[in-house]
Amino acid sequence: MKPKTIVITGGAGFLGSHLCDRFYDEGFKVICIDNLSTGNLENIAHLTGKDRFTFFKHDVTDYIFVKGEVDYILHSASPASPIDYLQLPIQTLKVGSLGTHKVLGLAKEKKARFLLASTSEVYGDPAIHPQPEDYWGNVNPIGPRGVYDEAKRFSEALTMAYQRYHGVETRIIRIFNTYGPRMRLNDGRALPAFISQIIKNQPLTVFGDGSQTRSFCYVSDLVEGIFRLLMSDEKNPVNIGNPQELSIKDFALKVKELAGSSSQIIYKDLPQDDPKIRQPDITKAKKVLNWQPKVNLEEGLKKTLESFGVKVLK
Ligand code: UDP
Repeated sequence: MKPKTIVITGGAGFLGSHLCDRFYDEGFKVICIDNLSTGNLENIAHLTGKDRFTFFKHDVTDYIFVKGEVDYILHSASPASPIDYLQLPIQTLKVGSLGTHKVLGLAKEKKARFLLASTSEVYGDPAIHPQPEDYWGNVNPIGPRGVYDEAKRFSEALTMAYQRYHGVETRIIRIFNTYGPRMRLNDGRALPAFISQIIKNQPLTVFGDGSQTRSFCYVSDLVEGIFRLLMSDEKNPVNIGNPQELSIKDFALKVKELAGSSSQIIYKDLPQDDPKIRQPDITKAKKVLNWQPKVNLEEGLKKTLESFGVKVLK
């Protein structure tokens, strides 16, 4: 049987490269597109040269030409860490608007099913807890995070418009904090920051008083959720994340303990509009995708630390 073809935008990034792996392993022909602004060829080096894998260095805000049939498209191209989108604010807005428009245009042309990698940032600094999909969010459009939050909210609106007006088959996933091997150590996110600080024997920088919470999902669980959503009939957004919630201070302590590190914890200013709490309500994912996370925090952190060469306490 002829393999199905999937286009993965942002395929050389942290999440995108894990998606390339998963779909390649499932027997798909994988076309990876990335402009390498935050992605890295090292993430896909093991796939290059394989028969069902192709890489194009291309910015999806420009017209995308793909030869032949395309069955599925995963649109995961975007700067995605607070530091990245603060440093690349215009590119972040462009990829979420012009880029999503081009990728949806490709889906329409190829009659491919399209999945948008959206984010829990659409909920902003949430006023309800945990966050279900029918919560409309609390976003500051003109704050520093607005470039990412509003780009993703616009992407969701455009995706629904292509579904309703053009009949494109679309799926939307709202991704909560995710971690694992291949995160960029200098992307400014909490875990990569802590890992690089541990490696360099520097203090761990906790922002604010560390009482803000997050819920961290291991990347293989997220990839499974994306796979299931793409293959499902669900047309409205679905949250994927691990509901195990903890404060950032406790998170730093956990990472430090697992690594057997003697680094101190120091406190720095809390960035503007940093959400105070965040936890996915995954009732819908359980019901419509029969999905729930399998990897607990300790297990996932150990695998991640080891992937960066940090010895963990057994
Ligand atoms: N954070 C921190 N120290 C760091 C980097 C981040 O305390 O060196 C905090 C950040 O302020 C936020 C949380 O950790 O409250 C998670 O940050 P991250 O950038 O990973 O993702 P976010 O959920 O904010 O998008």
